[in-house]
Amino acid sequence: MEDAALTPASVAGPPDTDDLIACPKCDALYVVHVPKSGERAVCTRCHHVLIAPKAGAVVRVATLSLTVLILLVGAAFFPFLEIRVQGFRNASSVFDAALAFSGPRMVGLSIAVAALIILIPMLRAILTLYVVTPIIADRTPFPGAARCFRLAEELRPWSMAEIFVIGVGVALVKVADLARIEFGPAFWMFGALVVLTVFQDVSMCRWTIWHELDSRARRAGIRLT
Ligand SMILES: [Zn+2]
Repeated sequence: MEDAALTPASVAGPPDTDDLIACPKCDALYVVHVPKSGERAVCTRCHHVLIAPKAGAVVRVATLSLTVLILLVGAAFFPFLEIRVQGFRNASSVFDAALAFSGPRMVGLSIAVAALIILIPMLRAILTLYVVTPIIADRTPFPGAARCFRLAEELRPWSMAEIFVIGVGVALVKVADLARIEFGPAFWMFGALVVLTVFQDVSMCRWTIWHELDSRARRAGIRLT
């Protein structure tokens, strides 16, 4: 992929603030030149990718969000693991696992586990769909689209489905000698989720989505909220 040249704002003179882009890593300020599809705009100081428009990326982000949402519903309620020890058999879903912390002191932990593994990734997928659907349909952004996209980005570090899968992997190595373990459908759904979430984050050019929202709101004469 080719890198498109960016002009530092200090060289270009005082432009309109709408035409500026700041590097989130090193704060360098540039005048926006929208790169062609397949090119990317990279910070000349720290090489952070600022803009990377890809053809069809918004549709891909929407499709992946919808898939993630469907997989999360299945992954929460289908059996995740089945453990057999000396004739005893126990199958449980992720939802059962989250509720396993019983007792008044553990309620907070149950809620936190369910939120970090299932609810926050689900909310991010719903918010992303809410933001990108009007862009795909070439319509005016929905009310609160900017707030929803900001929230979806803020929740990114708190979406821990992949950390859960790694944790389960480590725990399985420890108990593999003690019991017979079988993976349920939810395990494979979580596996697919981890790959899809990474692919979705890589596909999404945040600047493109903000730019699309801004230009559509401006065209419709509304304020982006
Ligand atoms: Zn930078």
